[in-house]
Amino acid sequence: MMNRLRQYFSAPFQLVLVISFSLIAAISIAIGVWAISQTIGDYLSDAMNERVARDMQLAQSFYNLKLQEIEGGAARLSSDPSIIENIQKLSNDGDTARTIINQQIANYLSTPGLGGNQVIALLDRSGNMVAGQYLSSDGQPQTLDLTGNWKKLAIIQKTLATGEKTSATEILPSDFLAMVGLADQARISILDTPKASPDLFDIREGSAGLGLVSVAGIKDQNGGNIGAVLAFHLLNNDFTLVDRIKEVAAIDTVTIFLGDLRVSTNVLTAEGDRAIGTRISEEVGNVVLQQGKEYVGPAFVVNEDYVTRYDPLRNHIGEVIGILYVGARQASFQRLVNSFNQQIVLVAIGTVLLTIVITTPVSRAITRPLDQLKVLVSANRRVADGDMTVRVPVKAGGEVGLLESSFNTMLDTLQNTQDQLVQSEKLASLGQLAAGVAHELNNPLGTILLYSDIIKKETDPSSPHADDLAIIVRETKRCKGIVSSLLEFARQNQVVAQPTDLNSLILKVVELEIKNCESNSVQIHLKLYPKLPKIQADPAQLTQVVVNLIENAIDAMPDGGSLHIQTSQAPEGMVTVEFEDNGMGIPAEHLSKLYTPFFTTKPVGKGTGLGLAIIYGIIKMHRGQIFVHSEVSKGTRFTIQLPIKLLGVKTNNQTNFNILETIE
Ligand code: ADP
Ligand code: MG
Repeated sequence: MMNRLRQYFSAPFQLVLVISFSLIAAISIAIGVWAISQTIGDYLSDAMNERVARDMQLAQSFYNLKLQEIEGGAARLSSDPSIIENIQKLSNDGDTARTIINQQIANYLSTPGLGGNQVIALLDRSGNMVAGQYLSSDGQPQTLDLTGNWKKLAIIQKTLATGEKTSATEILPSDFLAMVGLADQARISILDTPKASPDLFDIREGSAGLGLVSVAGIKDQNGGNIGAVLAFHLLNNDFTLVDRIKEVAAIDTVTIFLGDLRVSTNVLTAEGDRAIGTRISEEVGNVVLQQGKEYVGPAFVVNEDYVTRYDPLRNHIGEVIGILYVGARQASFQRLVNSFNQQIVLVAIGTVLLTIVITTPVSRAITRPLDQLKVLVSANRRVADGDMTVRVPVKAGGEVGLLESSFNTMLDTLQNTQDQLVQSEKLASLGQLAAGVAHELNNPLGTILLYSDIIKKETDPSSPHADDLAIIVRETKRCKGIVSSLLEFARQNQVVAQPTDLNSLILKVVELEIKNCESNSVQIHLKLYPKLPKIQADPAQLTQVVVNLIENAIDAMPDGGSLHIQTSQAPEGMVTVEFEDNGMGIPAEHLSKLYTPFFTTKPVGKGTGLGLAIIYGIIKMHRGQIFVHSEVSKGTRFTIQLPIKLLGVKTNNQTNFNILETIE
């Protein structure tokens, strides 16, 4: 198992591939996840903003509904005939009229569904309170002490002057509230709040009340202003409105601010109390109170994240005097985001793992040919160390396979060339030596032969010296033969080329050799290609090649046999001559030494071992090739290939002879 794993990850290149692929996958996934998260985030923040906008709309509706309810009460009482009638009687028959009025107000205040601190007061034309009732958030209506004048409150002044009905959120200073016994109800101790502005938005914060106020003028039968009905709901320390909004509209938190001070809320402190007395942050206050715009944003409230919205509350002349706030818990949205993120992370990890699983075999397939390259590298090293026999197995397909086979071909060629080079060098130096020795020996041998022949002729055949002299003459001739072969061998490095008809050249040689054959009962079969083109060659040298090959074949068939000589035009641009005998053949271990000068298996006096060496030199000088194929006791085939045109040959136009340079 481990081995298989190791094999899978063996090549560092493969590891690099796997890591790169996985990295690419990881990066693209990361970018994708980032983009998706961004979109989801945008979508969620839009959704949250929409949610608080909806919450705010609902909260404002309920807030206005409450104001309308109060307005409705004021309107109803201001147009009540018994109130209109009795308010005019107050100055004369005060007690009865007041009782009737109070009864009417009490009737109204006991309408089911009216919640919270409510005050109804009847004012005369000068703003003096002439009748009034107070309904606490839990209790029964109570009749109010009738002291005080409300005229200084702007909204009341306006109605008393014009008789119009006015309704709005208003600040009710504590001295006014004191007149109806609600100064304490309004009081809120201001708590230090981090991030709040150093200055209060309204210096009356803490003592003044914030009320939903409606004032409706009372007119007599002639339409003259005779007073007004003041109806208000005090929001300070009263949570009926905010709680109702929270419950009915399913809003998480609702708060009402007087200036920047929380006066009614259902946000709870860490201790579980209503969080009134704390103030809004300066940043939000600047937007909502100073600029009169709404503010939307996330906020950490008490111990939880909220998306919040603050809208300004305005009084009857449009001044910003407070704030209505709604907050939606982020937790519900956050849960969605978290579960989404978890899924995304799982998918991302899964994808990267999948990439690794897929790329491991894929990169294995890519890097497998590299193993073959390693084989090539080690083969190369052995070649560099001089081992020319190395060949690599051609296993892989494609480019690497091509590389392997061309590597092998290259080595074949290299080895061949090297062999030939060695052979050529050997021949060249031997040729020099042979030429030197042969020259020195040729003249003395000639002299010996001349005089020994004369002496032999002058000697009486019956003389005891006659036989000896015959031996001297014969052996001297043999020496001359060897010397002339040596000279031949030495001379071969100069080719005198002319158009040569190889077929007729072979025919001539065979005619001369036929005598030799008869004595050895060897038959020669010729198969000469009639359209064989003339080749550029040295006919004297080629004659020697043919003679030597035929004589070697005859020597190889001492008990008779047949020699086939065949010519053909192949391969491209060349002619081929084959000499095939069915003689004794050549053992494999001799094949490599065949062309070495003086290599012979024939008895002394019979062979010189120069024949094939000379042939080899001549063929190479003609830019040709010689191959041998032999099987012991079956026969031998020598194949010679010669080019039709000899390139690089100097042409002597006058003599029509071409001289080829020396072999080097
Ligand atoms: P030599 O003929 O003087 O021995 P060569 O160079 O012509 O020298 O030949 C070298 C050797 O190659 C021969 O001695 C012989 O052993 C072998 N040889 C050459 N040609 C043939 C052949 N046709 N059949 C068998 N052996 C051959
Ligand atoms: Mg020979």
